[in-house]
Amino acid sequence: MELIIGSHVSFTASTQLLGSVEEALSYNANTFMFYTGSTQSIQRSNINDELTYKAYELMVKNNINNNNVIVHAPYIINLANKSDENKYNFYINFFSQELDRCKQLGMNKIVLHPGSATTCTKEEAIQNIANALNIVFTKTENTVVLLEFMAGKGNEVGTSIDELKSIIDLINNKDRIGVCLDTCHMNDSYVDISHFDEFLDEFDSKIGIDKIKCVHINDSMNERGSHKDRHANIGYGTIGFDNLINVVYNDRLKGIPFILETPYVNRNSKDAWAPYKYEIESIRNKKFIDFIQ
Ligand code: FE
Ligand code: FE
Ligand code: ZN
Repeated sequence: MELIIGSHVSFTASTQLLGSVEEALSYNANTFMFYTGSTQSIQRSNINDELTYKAYELMVKNNINNNNVIVHAPYIINLANKSDENKYNFYINFFSQELDRCKQLGMNKIVLHPGSATTCTKEEAIQNIANALNIVFTKTENTVVLLEFMAGKGNEVGTSIDELKSIIDLINNKDRIGVCLDTCHMNDSYVDISHFDEFLDEFDSKIGIDKIKCVHINDSMNERGSHKDRHANIGYGTIGFDNLINVVYNDRLKGIPFILETPYVNRNSKDAWAPYKYEIESIRNKKFIDFIQ
């Protein structure tokens, strides 16, 4: 089975999915992840079906299967707090619209940060998130929501196997819920990535390995358990190249998409550039490439 690997790419108002596919191809990726607009805001432009059609022509020509393409929900959606009903309902409706946009784009998986419990306990947050998703699932069709494993920054929910399990247990339609692992987040939460198989054993016994539908493959700038969430380039962080290679090539995760969310090189300057072509090549060849001089 061929390795499915790509990175997050941009999706702009003018080129939309066609631009995303072109960017992914420039990295020699065979999948990609995108936000349907800004990561931080709820501004969304209308989807241009003609651009979508052209994007699919290009995907088919290059063997990119839409089942491997991932959408990411904007960060601002927070389904954890119910103290402000208007806000809670707004997020439910906005997330439902995002799922409709996925459907219009032919995409069937969307990654969601479960939420941050700012005005309630984690136990209440878990109830609120599951309740919100149950409503979203009655308002929409098909799209599967992948809860991301979080680093545990602030009051984030979904920072352990047990927390993710508590949410999933409360979901009525289990076919529409899955998990997206993130190696940086796992490391920053508590997981020792050098013992990844032990993590998978526990995940399998509590949730089931078939629920893992995507992995964000990032190194981390911080030590295990730091609860920081700062991504590093592959082989340039505390997890290290070999440990990340062992995640990507783990037999139990065969066939699922691996997505890089690593930082641009020189990211705070006008010379910032995306390293994904090199990172993808290094992962495919299992050989570290030192692209940062
Ligand atoms: Fe994420
Ligand atoms: Fe991530
Ligand atoms: Zn992160």
